[in-house]
Amino acid sequence: MIQVNEPLIGEKELQYVTECLKTGWISSAGKFIKEFEEKWAAYCGMKYGVAVSNGTTALQIAIGCLDLEPGDEVIMPTFTIISCALAVIYSGGKPVLVDSDPRTWTIDVSRVEDKVTSRTRAIMPVHIYGHPCDMKPIQELAGKYKLVIIEDAAEAHGAEYKGRKCGGLGDISCFSFYANKIITTGEGGMVLTNNEEYDERAKSLRNLCFRNDRRFYHTELGSNFRLTNLQAAIGIAQLERIDELVEKKRWIGHSYNEKLKDIPWLILPIEESWAKNVYWMYGIVLDENMGMDAKGFARRLLEHGVDTRPFFLGMHEQPVFHEMGLFRDEHYPVTEQIARQGLYLPSGLTLTEDQIDEIAKRIKEILTK
Ligand SMILES: *Cc1c(COP(=O)(O)O)cnc(C)c1O
Repeated sequence: MIQVNEPLIGEKELQYVTECLKTGWISSAGKFIKEFEEKWAAYCGMKYGVAVSNGTTALQIAIGCLDLEPGDEVIMPTFTIISCALAVIYSGGKPVLVDSDPRTWTIDVSRVEDKVTSRTRAIMPVHIYGHPCDMKPIQELAGKYKLVIIEDAAEAHGAEYKGRKCGGLGDISCFSFYANKIITTGEGGMVLTNNEEYDERAKSLRNLCFRNDRRFYHTELGSNFRLTNLQAAIGIAQLERIDELVEKKRWIGHSYNEKLKDIPWLILPIEESWAKNVYWMYGIVLDENMGMDAKGFARRLLEHGVDTRPFFLGMHEQPVFHEMGLFRDEHYPVTEQIARQGLYLPSGLTLTEDQIDEIAKRIKEILTK
């Protein structure tokens, strides 16, 4: 069976983690945390990094930096992971949804301005499956309406928009280092910013809102969202070879493109002229006229030993939000179509050319017989 993902862990990871264990720095103090924060921020072109427990808590902290009033709105794509909407809801705000661009599957920037109201506080672009959002129109709208940009770059380590790294294009950015992300710490995340106030606020929210002036005296509700030195040690080792990892992802993407391009019924991922796509996961969409949906296709692929994962289901189609009275009568046709017809193929860093050949062969058999 060809797995959807396998992490690539090497000797350096083992060496640095061993160092933590041998020296006793196993919790959330220790040299690797600070080093990881500084190096990851520098890699993305940001000033400050705040390492946190995962990508979901990174988003919660980013939204926490905004001090939303109840009913304040944050614009985001409906085609994303639930973490984005949760962060806003937990802060008392309201997610406002936008459909996807049919080419890149990221937020359709032409539909954002219609959603801006007097309550809008922020826009959250999410770089989907390794392809950046079209940031310039978003930056222009943010300027025009005084909105904060919170980038969710959890799927876009090393991806670029007009030569600049994703995660360095907004006011605050969020990363995940979950095991299937391009660099991993097992579980982990980071918040990046150039803004000193956001940096301080993020550090406080991460650590129970302790105050610098008086320990154990609290004026706000915080959480424990800390990363451990053990995890940061893995992150440092991964970061040392990020160029190689990103190149491998791009090689996987290009190889699939080449081997799948002549197979009918398939819509393949693209790379806009202004983008560097890192193909975090290699997603494909089946033409609706083929008469098979992604679920049926995934079942057939599994019978042939190829594991896949379905695309996101739009936030507006989530029962939990309908029960809360959210998004009930909303429809987003592009997202609904790609959610039904899309899946991603094995994309792990250990994938070989023989495996890609095998997968392409199986897909061809299923779709042309
Ligand atoms: C993975 C992911 C997250 C959540 O990260 P976790 O570390 O799993 O909490 C958030 N946003 C996007 C776009 C992701 O892909």
